[in-house]
Amino acid sequence: MSKHVTHWINGKPFEGAAERRGEIYDPAVGAVSGSVDFASSAEVDAAVAAARDAFPGWRDTSLSKRTSILFRFRELVHAHRDELARLISSEHGKVVADAAGEVARGLEVVEFACGIPHLLKGGFSENVSSRVDAYSILQPVGVCAGITPFNFPAMVPMWMFPVAIACGNTFVLKPSEKDPSAAVRLAELWSEAGLPDGVFNVLHGDKAAVDGLLEHPDVKAVSFVGSTPIARYVYETAARTGKRVQALGGAKNHMVVLPDADLDLAADAAVSAGFGSAGERCMAISVVVAVDPVGDELVAKIKERVAKLRIGPGDDPESEMGPLVTRAHRDKVASYLDSGVAQGATLAVDGRGTPVLGGGADGFWLGPTVLDHVTPEMDCYKDEIFGPVLSVARAGSYDEAMRLVAANPYGNGTAIFTNDGGAARRFQNEVEVGMVGINVPIPVPMAYYSFGGWKASLFGDSHAHGMEGVHFYTRTKAVTARWLDPSHGGVNLGFPTNG
Ligand code: NAD
Repeated sequence: MSKHVTHWINGKPFEGAAERRGEIYDPAVGAVSGSVDFASSAEVDAAVAAARDAFPGWRDTSLSKRTSILFRFRELVHAHRDELARLISSEHGKVVADAAGEVARGLEVVEFACGIPHLLKGGFSENVSSRVDAYSILQPVGVCAGITPFNFPAMVPMWMFPVAIACGNTFVLKPSEKDPSAAVRLAELWSEAGLPDGVFNVLHGDKAAVDGLLEHPDVKAVSFVGSTPIARYVYETAARTGKRVQALGGAKNHMVVLPDADLDLAADAAVSAGFGSAGERCMAISVVVAVDPVGDELVAKIKERVAKLRIGPGDDPESEMGPLVTRAHRDKVASYLDSGVAQGATLAVDGRGTPVLGGGADGFWLGPTVLDHVTPEMDCYKDEIFGPVLSVARAGSYDEAMRLVAANPYGNGTAIFTNDGGAARRFQNEVEVGMVGINVPIPVPMAYYSFGGWKASLFGDSHAHGMEGVHFYTRTKAVTARWLDPSHGGVNLGFPTNG
């Protein structure tokens, strides 16, 4: 039976007919499995109004009450993690184990947000002048919007809303239209946890819904995660309309392998980080930079491992890699195999011939592919492919490898594989990216650190979650207070004069 996904506004499913809808696919079969409503401007207004009306009550809800709701939400998401993972896998295509992993990483942010009473403590300075105290308080900003990509339909929204809501804001989430169901299930679990109606809303749709949120005067902060062109657009538009904005963009993550590295460890890492979730991760390794003379040996080890990867439907426990999200995306990713070869790369592994265990013949399949001898002028190097295509570039030295990483416009994650602590330390110090792995291919920060890239991978100042998330979702107020004290002679007119 075909499912129908609609908005979640003011604590319940939206009742009404959508003017426009999108199709949801089962990527392993290649067929439509349902439809999702696309918001018109009236529905954008309804979601934002629900969030605006819920804000005063939620802002004034005590920290202990907020925390107890967050703890209940944490328990509910944990209890429903398998169901959520299956839902994600059915629309995204990733294997259920990967989907469960994203729910677990999202839960870590909820757990971080459970500590909000501690995180929201301000500063206090007693007696800045005679009987004058100064202190700062962190207050919520109001209605916050989150606009998220298809590749982590639970985890990326959970980078945002647990922190925003814990800080006392209300939230409108616009998830990807390609896999919209997890967001609605999370909304239901919030309600079950006791979150008041209107504090968390889900609005589905495409550019029209996003533009409605960006232009809406009652939306005060926008968190975006997606591709770089849209991140730049969201950043510029939201800033022009006076909102605070953090917009995380695309990536081209390099993994530098120095000659002294453990090549088995490096090959394992390249394969899991290159092909996990079919390469549809913003932290996927897309370029291995092999520093001479290890290139040939490393590629041979990668090929050995790729040959053993099992490709199949996400809900088959035997599958290690699922299909891509849509047919159009699969075809675009596959086009880089031809262009790479035409531009001089070597096809070390051609994923077009990889056998698929089960699934439909029309599923959006592309097996793991390795392009060797890739150079910076090639399209497969310049573009973010966002699929199971691992490029291998060769560098003559550490300095040449560093120049390659530095010249790349993206700066999300980067890894170095080496047994030389000095080289690793130099790399960590010099490299121009937001997240660095040392013998760790996908250095996604823990929830209590913050996630974000540099350069074309982030527009704005704040990374997601951790203390940067708390600062993004709060405004600071500095108070200077003087109380008259009769026991000390009443009126005190002393006051700082400088400032
Ligand atoms: P996308 O940019 O196409 O879409 C992201 C969101 O923007 C979706 O909600 C979509 O509906 C909306 N959108 C799409 N086109 C729009 C337009 N013209 N105007 C306004 N809104 C629009 O990204 P995607 O394909 O869903 O996700 C993959 C991309 O996300 C990759 O580039 C990946 O690197 C990036 N990503 C980045 C991070 C990070 O942390 N930096 C994390 C995950 C994904």
